[in-house]
Amino acid sequence: MKRITLTLILFTACAALTAQPKAKRPNIVIILSDDHAYQTISAYGSKFMQTPNIDRIAKEGVLFNKAYVTNSICGPSRAVLLTGKYSHKNGFKDNETSNFNAAQDLFVKQLQANGYQTAWIGKYHLGTQPQGFDFWQILPGQGSYYNPEMLMMDGSRKRIEGYATNIVEDVTETWLDQRDTSKPFCLVIGHKSTHRTWIPDTTDMGMFDDVTFPFPENFYDAYDNREAAKVQDMTIAKTMILGYDLKMLTPGDKEPAVERMNTVQRARFDAYYQPIYEDFKARNLSGKALTEWKYQRYMKDYLSTAASLDRNIGRTLDYLDQHQLTDNTIVIYLSDQGFYMGEHGWFDKRFMYEESFRTPMMMRYPGVIKPGIKLNGYVMNLDIASTCLDAAGVAIPEEIQGKSILSLLNGKTKGRDAMYYHYYENGEHSVSPHFGVQTKKYKLICFYKRVDSWELYDLRKDPRDMHNLYGKKKYEKITQQLKSKLNALIAQYEDEDARRVLNGG
Ligand code: CA
Repeated sequence: MKRITLTLILFTACAALTAQPKAKRPNIVIILSDDHAYQTISAYGSKFMQTPNIDRIAKEGVLFNKAYVTNSICGPSRAVLLTGKYSHKNGFKDNETSNFNAAQDLFVKQLQANGYQTAWIGKYHLGTQPQGFDFWQILPGQGSYYNPEMLMMDGSRKRIEGYATNIVEDVTETWLDQRDTSKPFCLVIGHKSTHRTWIPDTTDMGMFDDVTFPFPENFYDAYDNREAAKVQDMTIAKTMILGYDLKMLTPGDKEPAVERMNTVQRARFDAYYQPIYEDFKARNLSGKALTEWKYQRYMKDYLSTAASLDRNIGRTLDYLDQHQLTDNTIVIYLSDQGFYMGEHGWFDKRFMYEESFRTPMMMRYPGVIKPGIKLNGYVMNLDIASTCLDAAGVAIPEEIQGKSILSLLNGKTKGRDAMYYHYYENGEHSVSPHFGVQTKKYKLICFYKRVDSWELYDLRKDPRDMHNLYGKKKYEKITQQLKSKLNALIAQYEDEDARRVLNGG
C-alpha cells in the first residue's frame, strides 16, 4: 500500500505542470500569515475548523505536504522569504539582536528592475524600513489586532479603526485599485493573524464555544531524553498567561491590546469575555484541570483569529476573480512558520520538531500548475524567491540558496533529499539554539549554547519527535551518515557559525 502511494506521488509530481510558464508575465500574490499551524487548516485534513478559502488555493493548485522553514521564527522567516538565503547569509538571525539590512539584494528588487510593480502590505516585522517596494504600508513590529497603527511611506504613522486582518485586506484592495495596470505586480499581503495574543474579531467571538477540542496525544510530554525540551519556557501550563494571552482580566487590569479598543469594540469584548471570566473564577481550577481549561480557551481564540484570516483570504481571491486577474496571477499562501497546538504541551514555535519546523504552503498558477496536486517532496520558504523569479522569467542570482518550485514541479531540478535548519535565538521562551538535518527517514539535531546535546529521530516510527535515539545501540551507523550529511549541508550553505560549533571553536 505504501509503495502504491509513493508511486502515485512521484507520478503526480512529474505531471504537475500543464504547460511551461506563460509568455505573459504573471502577477504574483504572496499571502503570508503569522504562526498559522497546518494542523488547523482543513486542506491538511484538520477537523478543528473549516478553512474553505485557504483550501481553495490548494484545490486549484498544489498543496505542499512537506513544506518547511529554515529558522522557525517571525522576522528571520520574512528575511529568508525576501532574500532566498539562510539567516547566516541575509544577516537576520533572530528577533532580539538582528537588524535586517534591506539594502541587500531581494527578489522584489530583481522583479522591479524587470518591470514589475511591487508592494508589501501588513505585517513586515523586519525592523528597518522596507526597500524594493513601489508601495508599502506596514504594521510596526508585531502590530495590533485592534485599531492598529500603520507605518506609511512618508514616515508618518496612521491609526486605522477596525480589525487588523480586515484592514490589511482593505489596504490591499485600495492599492490594487490604483496600481499601474500596464505592469505586472508582485504583492505580499502580510497578516498578523494568527499570532499571539489571538484576539478575535468581534464578529468571530464565540464561534467555537460549543466545541471541546481533543488533546494531542503528547500533550503531557515529560521530555524524557530531550535536554532542550526540558528547559524551554513555552508550555500552556506554565508560560501561557491568563490575562495577557487568554483575556481573563480582573477589574482594573489594563491590558494594552484590549485598551486600544473603541467603546463599541470594548463593549462586545466585555460581553463575551466577562462571563467566561466569572465562570473561570467560580471554578477555582488548579493543576491539570487549569491547564486543560487554558488549552480549550487557547484553541477557541486561536481558531477564531484564523476564521478572520481565511475569510479575508477569500476576499483577496474574490477580488482577483472580479477584476479578471485570476488566470494570470500566481497565488502563494504560507505561514512564516508552523505552531504548536498543544503538542508537547506547547504553544509557540522555534524547535526543529515537526509542528514548528513545518509550515502550511500552497500555490495556485492557473494554466501552469494542474489543480488538485499534492506534493510530498521537500520544499522550503527559502524557495519562494527563486520560484517568483523563475515564474517572471528573471534570471535567479547565483547567491540565492533556494530552488525554484516550478522547476521542481516540471522535473527540471531534482527535489531535496535533505533539509538544513538553523535556529539562533536564545532568549524569550528559553529555546536552545540548534541546527540540524532532516532526510526522508531521519532527523538529527545539534543543540548548543543553552544546552549541549544531540537528538536523533526515526521519522517513520516517531513523527512527533518523542523518542531521542541519539547514542542508542544500532544507530551508530545512521548517526555517522547523518553527521556527514549535516557537514555537507553546512559546507554547501557556508554556515560558519555551525561549523564553529561542531569544531568546538
Ligand atoms: Ca511567526
